[in-house]
Amino acid sequence: MSKFWSPVVHGLTPYVPGEQPKLPNLVKLNTNENPYGPSPKALAALQAEVGDTLRLYPDPGSDRLREAIAQYHQVAPNQVFVGNGSDEVLAHVFHALLQHDQPVLFPDITYSFYPVYCGLYGIQYRQIPLTDTFEINVDDYLQSNGGIIFPNPNAPTSRILALAEIERLLQGNPNSVVVIDEAYVDFGGESAIQLVNRYPQLLVTHTLSKSRSLAGLRVGFAIGHPDLIEALNRVKDSFNSYPLDRFAQSGAIAAMQDQAWFEETRARVIANREKLVADMEALGFEVLPSAANFIFAKHPNHEGAVLTAALRERSIIVRHFKNPARIAPFMRITVGTEAQCEALVG
Ligand code: PMP
Repeated sequence: MSKFWSPVVHGLTPYVPGEQPKLPNLVKLNTNENPYGPSPKALAALQAEVGDTLRLYPDPGSDRLREAIAQYHQVAPNQVFVGNGSDEVLAHVFHALLQHDQPVLFPDITYSFYPVYCGLYGIQYRQIPLTDTFEINVDDYLQSNGGIIFPNPNAPTSRILALAEIERLLQGNPNSVVVIDEAYVDFGGESAIQLVNRYPQLLVTHTLSKSRSLAGLRVGFAIGHPDLIEALNRVKDSFNSYPLDRFAQSGAIAAMQDQAWFEETRARVIANREKLVADMEALGFEVLPSAANFIFAKHPNHEGAVLTAALRERSIIVRHFKNPARIAPFMRITVGTEAQCEALVG
């Protein structure tokens, strides 16, 4: 590392994404992608963008996309912020918390990008332990803070927090931003978007990477009070981050409008998950209740790292986290196709 940059840069421990192996014929169940592919209407919209219009800049405001998202979620377009994946949306969210005089709160087992962003922007944070059953206890978040963020369902635990509990959290935190990262909500959760018009401190983030099967396109969004959204636009424009490109905007609009494909593919993922959980339990695994497109499972007699390595020998890739020690016995397994799930438990 060069000595010429800031000491902050020396101290960074960047997020390590799940691997995207090049080898064909792998059963890839490590990064929670959707096995069923994007809406054919989204693919057609992408193809329609290949042409002369590529010489033109994309719409900097992603207006049509924000309208499509607003219509789908029954909010106004000025309540929608879009980004290159929800990771970029989250980066702007953390940036907006810069130099807050209170720590941001999030669980000790959660999406590992949150502490990374805090490190990058020099944001203080406090990690709140999950309960013994890997759940979020709202009472632990009723303390002075500079913001609260967690995924719902949580990652990598897959456990959901009921909407009534989120409402209790909001009532106990009227003066700080509460961000619910709903990357996986379409696989079994109730969205907090229905609460945004009652709680001006609530921001809900979504992605098209999971339930819409467009991880490669990089589209995510946030929904909240127009004032929260206006501030995020200010951060984004100060940063001069890229608008969504023409493909991302067109493909995402078509994906948001293809309700039939969305319903059909998510129902298949949920059905596969239920069967996978039953099959894993029959093999002696303990599986946490999942509301996501992945499961978190451990075996009483075999370490998570050993099982992960053994599956790899069979060309099946799942995710294992060494830290914190409490989750080291577990594997996080993406719900694949029927055949992929069979390969896993077979
Ligand atoms: N939040 C959570 C909890 C996630 O697991 C992920 C995916 N790794 C993201 C956000 C980011 O997803 P994307 O940037 O693809 O929208």
